[in-house]
Amino acid sequence: MQFKQIAGQQALKSKLTAMAASGRVPHAQLVLGQSGAGNLPVALAFAAYLLCKNPLPEDSCGECDACRKMQSFTHPDLHFSFPFPSSSGDTCVDLYPQWRKALQTDPYLSYESWMRLLNAENKQGNIPILECRAIIRNLSMKAYESKYKILLLWLPEFLGKEGNVLLKFLEEPPPDTLFLLVCSQPDKLLSTIVSRTQLLRVPPIDEEELTSYLAQQLEITREEAARFSMMSGGDLIKARELASNSESPYMEPFRQWMLYCYKKNMLLSAKWIEELSGKGREYIKGLLLYGIEIMRAIAVMEHLGERNGLNEHEKEFVTKLGKLMSTKKIFGIFDVLDAAIYEVERNGNVKMIFTDLSFKISKLF
Ligand SMILES: [Zn+2]
Repeated sequence: MQFKQIAGQQALKSKLTAMAASGRVPHAQLVLGQSGAGNLPVALAFAAYLLCKNPLPEDSCGECDACRKMQSFTHPDLHFSFPFPSSSGDTCVDLYPQWRKALQTDPYLSYESWMRLLNAENKQGNIPILECRAIIRNLSMKAYESKYKILLLWLPEFLGKEGNVLLKFLEEPPPDTLFLLVCSQPDKLLSTIVSRTQLLRVPPIDEEELTSYLAQQLEITREEAARFSMMSGGDLIKARELASNSESPYMEPFRQWMLYCYKKNMLLSAKWIEELSGKGREYIKGLLLYGIEIMRAIAVMEHLGERNGLNEHEKEFVTKLGKLMSTKKIFGIFDVLDAAIYEVERNGNVKMIFTDLSFKISKLF
């Protein structure tokens, strides 16, 4: 995990790299913020930066031995603790395989999604006393490969009173030991722990920064990205949810049109065109561009198996359409849609253009 993989948080990244460069890293930090703001990814990238053998001014190198181990979250000097249901094991080590897989899949992990991954949605997560003792045992050993050994304790608010056995350790840790306590609900945290840590706030992601990140990662337009960014309040998890539930305004009309073409129902197609011709040219162009995107998605899906930026409905649509067509035909439709854009831009007659298109696409099916 590197800083560059994190959405926004530029100011915080600079603060952390400067902190590491100064050599004055507080031994116990409370990394406080929402999961969707990236409190866990920030802590992971900071740990990677501290463990990296050749850190660059702004990020870990991504290539050294330590960085490679951090890509799979298997660095021996980084220990993890997190809540889990008592039925899943005794200590966190029992769950390291699932934990690493979860982080590799998506480091923007929430408590709910973690419990879902453990098939324990209805159970209560907990950081039990056996785990607290394991923490003390692990950190009492020397660092294996690095200057530091780090404990990343995710969601310390799930420590019960048992957590108090860690207090002395937080106060006087063994040499070169760092605690990163990644917390989302500070009001549930033992006050004895809060008082022994230095606070590091992870604020909501800056709206502009989140917009750029979403536009790039989800392959959506900047306008759409800005809308999700604003609605999410700087929370990447929420913004992604909004994006996956939202539908392009072109999806349903385009799907209908393709259906009429496939069934060679020129009557319904004509009605559809009649309605379409009442809309503005920008909308019509948008619809054609959307159609091109869909054709591209089908072609890519055939080769790569999936594609980013499509919501569940679109994926289903693309899969169905893909089953009806050969690659050659997909490119055929792609070409006629592309040519139609040219005509729409030159103020061609919309009804004529789309009637012609409907015939051509029907023939291609
Ligand atoms: Zn490195």
